Amino acid sequence: MSILIKDATILTQDATRRRLHGDVYIEDQKITQVSEKPVTVEADYKIDGRKKLLLPGLINLHTHLPMTLLRGYGDDMQLQEWLQQRIWPVEARLTPETIASGTALGALEMITSGTTTFLDMYFFEETIAEVIKKSGLRGFLGFGIVDFGTAQYKSDEMLPACERFVKTWHRDPMIHPVVAPHSAYACGPESLRRCQEIATKYDVLVHTHCSETRDEVYDMEKKYGKRPVEQFHSLGLLTPRMSLAHCGWITKTEIATMKETGVAVAHCPVSNYKIGTGGYAPIPEMLAAGIRIGLGTDGAASNNILDMFDTMKFAALGQKQHRWDPRVFPAQTVFDFATIGGAACLGIQNQVGSLEVGKQADLIFIDLDQPHLTPVHDPVSHLAYAVRGGDVCTTIVNGVPLMLDRKFLTLDPHETMEKAAQSATRLTS
Ligand SMILES: [Zn+2]
Repeated sequence: MSILIKDATILTQDATRRRLHGDVYIEDQKITQVSEKPVTVEADYKIDGRKKLLLPGLINLHTHLPMTLLRGYGDDMQLQEWLQQRIWPVEARLTPETIASGTALGALEMITSGTTTFLDMYFFEETIAEVIKKSGLRGFLGFGIVDFGTAQYKSDEMLPACERFVKTWHRDPMIHPVVAPHSAYACGPESLRRCQEIATKYDVLVHTHCSETRDEVYDMEKKYGKRPVEQFHSLGLLTPRMSLAHCGWITKTEIATMKETGVAVAHCPVSNYKIGTGGYAPIPEMLAAGIRIGLGTDGAASNNILDMFDTMKFAALGQKQHRWDPRVFPAQTVFDFATIGGAACLGIQNQVGSLEVGKQADLIFIDLDQPHLTPVHDPVSHLAYAVRGGDVCTTIVNGVPLMLDRKFLTLDPHETMEKAAQSATRLTS
């Protein structure tokens, strides 16, 4: 398949963050030309880039896709109360059918709001993989591990099932299996050690929740005499393979450990502020230490949308307000986190995250012809502070259009939303 894009304003996100106006040619999944001079070739699709902004597809570093079914179900509650009264009772009733419909809804939402790569962690990940494969998105799919078992597996069945899942998918070009122990409080030392063994054996990533709330940190200190970061470190899980979601309650000593071990961080400001977790991830200090950082929406139950533009804005504003300093988190930095920075967290910065010749063609268009995006003094400022997910008009992943001028090509939006709404009613009634 080939795609020719004409006359677009292009934010490349390459090493010099080059911006240009011109044409892009995509052939057989890859970007083959990015040029200020007109490109004249025949192509299967020709896209008029005028009044549009062309940028790399966004990377969501932490989500739980099927939780789209629980959007708006149990807001304004404390974390433990919310989990115990709302989330866990519903999760005990999950089936492959409900998981599939929630995943498809999440995929549809990501395609429509410009996310092209994401890191999920949940249960029934085998079903999630099948749905994502059909959607055309680039998925890092975390097989969730908890010591108490799930609706799908008893506790002693989980790690063998995880290994089967990893073995099935680890050579797929678009689906990347990830080992995802839920957290240091939901997984004991033995499960954590075995998670690491599986990840090392198949050379795949590990993803977990870490230091989201102060209670979590205090409970870990009481039970194990170690904070979550220390617990992961002592069990050998802190390696460049690992990404930690949240990190709201992190000390300077822990930042040094994180730097030394090469872990990545998925910052999830909207979920943190909505649940009121209190801690602010020390992003300026982590950045100064050279830690890889990306952004995550978290699940739709605690966000309540999977819109990465919204997360970019919250990320920047939260740090500015917390530090009494608007300079701490500039628009370009937040845009980097959502693109090339997120790619680096996943170890795929040589494949995606920027628009450069030779890279896989994951890119999106923003429709600039709208009141709230006029005028354009600085397109990067717009991305951080003014663009909303609904302004994305075209989404291309691996050289394949998934949405073209707001028309979906891989998923049927009406059927997807209808099925998801039915599943949500079944689960919560
Ligand atoms: Zn989460």
